Amino acid sequence: MNYVPPQSASETAPFPFDNSYARLPANFYARVEPTSVAEPWLIKFNRKLAEELGLDTEALERDGAAIFSGNKVPPGAEPLAMAYAGHQFGTFVPQLGDGRAILLGEVIDRNGNRRDIQLKGSGQTPYSRRGDGRAALGPVLREYIVSEAMHALGVPTTRALAATVTGQPVYREQILPGAVFTRVAASHIRVGTFQFFAARGDMESVKALADYVIERHYPESKDSGQPYFSLFKAVAARQAGLIARWLHIGFIHGVMNTDNMAVSGETIDFGPCAFMDAYDPKKVFSSIDQFGRYAYANQPAIGQWNLARLAETLVPLFDPVADTAVNLANDALTEYGSIFQKHWLDGMRRKIGLSTEEDGDLDLVQSLLTLMHEGNADFTLVFRRLTASAEDKGADPALAELFEKPDAVSRWLRDWRGRLTREALDAGARAVSMRKANPAFIPRNHRVEQAIEAATRDADFSLFEALLEVTSRPYEDQPEHAAYAAPPEPGQEVLQTFCGT
Ligand code: AMP
Ligand code: MG
Repeated sequence: MNYVPPQSASETAPFPFDNSYARLPANFYARVEPTSVAEPWLIKFNRKLAEELGLDTEALERDGAAIFSGNKVPPGAEPLAMAYAGHQFGTFVPQLGDGRAILLGEVIDRNGNRRDIQLKGSGQTPYSRRGDGRAALGPVLREYIVSEAMHALGVPTTRALAATVTGQPVYREQILPGAVFTRVAASHIRVGTFQFFAARGDMESVKALADYVIERHYPESKDSGQPYFSLFKAVAARQAGLIARWLHIGFIHGVMNTDNMAVSGETIDFGPCAFMDAYDPKKVFSSIDQFGRYAYANQPAIGQWNLARLAETLVPLFDPVADTAVNLANDALTEYGSIFQKHWLDGMRRKIGLSTEEDGDLDLVQSLLTLMHEGNADFTLVFRRLTASAEDKGADPALAELFEKPDAVSRWLRDWRGRLTREALDAGARAVSMRKANPAFIPRNHRVEQAIEAATRDADFSLFEALLEVTSRPYEDQPEHAAYAAPPEPGQEVLQTFCGT
């Protein structure tokens, strides 16, 4: 027999996979391989993230088109589609599951955290129902841009590792270029994953899933005496913090179905999401959200609604006495409200430069928001310019001009400065801290749409690249990119965004 030299490590295993989900019972998923595509082309590879994950970046740069399109399943992967259910716009669907996504496997990153590597748009699975299992280029670019921007803004989120185009069309209202997105997540377990088993009366699986989630995301719950209740409270606390962060930056998720809420506490599923320009608490972008269920200011309450659905699946594990268990769940849901409120107000205080707490702060914040709403003022710019006003009164006119009636804000500024006199920080230090709480750059929706349109129509990815670059440093003044900080001109405003399907 001829001696065959061992292949170099980089050729055999660009991903050091260690797949714990695949070791769970077979009813948790369906094993399925990605479907090959015609002519894959790597449009973006996130080298920095790949390094953080401990991947072989050279191998991936060389072979990325094949691997990230699903044409070549890397060694050690155990591809599977996860089973889950979910409430979609309030209506329960007992079986959803990964209809167009395939989990390749998990790696342990450089910080010791377990991360999922998932292909999205990689072909049909047993959960595809009537769908084609594919993704169009536009939603793939939107998820790439927005998830990476969220990360740069400091918000827990799934990440973008790569995007490929497939060389095959997908058929939506129009014929569009097909693409595959490679998503990295702390995990892809959703509220809907628990619902999948609970809806089948399969408490054994609910418990196995809860044990797995405790082990993976909430190990401190294990020794709490009430591990499952402690798990629930921890999930709720993370959601409260997460949704507060969304509100601080004007983010509207758009489709907070229970299948789109990750129990890890990361933002997941960037379908019709968008950042608002002018402040409007009722703002909705999604074309399918006719009743404003997922409007900007409704997000905390919907978070609680979703958590109540999670509680329903876990309640039998909280306590053997049903009444006691339900009371525990209700207390935790109430507590979610106060945790959210605290995170939200703490963040709003930071945004207006307060480092101490006074009773009147909520009113001060609220009255600014009311003025912004009445004056149709740009959410992001108001807070960024307020940062300049914190240092220099001379910057006030630039702030005031954001309001339809510039005089409207002058009394508020007087009240605010009165409040600042009771702060210990000097103006310079205050501005530094405000700058870290108030981004100059968000992925403005009209910019996202422009980037998508150039890529889809002309295969021109320059706007996509430019937007990624600018939003990777959101808290820095980037005078050379000032145009990216501006709200849309009349006529540029994007009124609706569409689901990623
Ligand atoms: P989403 O709106 O992306 O959260 O998806 C909701 C459900 O529909 C999930 O179960 C998806 O896997 C499934 N789905 C969405 N788009 C497609 C598609 N093109 N093909 C198959 N399944 C899909
Ligand atoms: Mg989803």
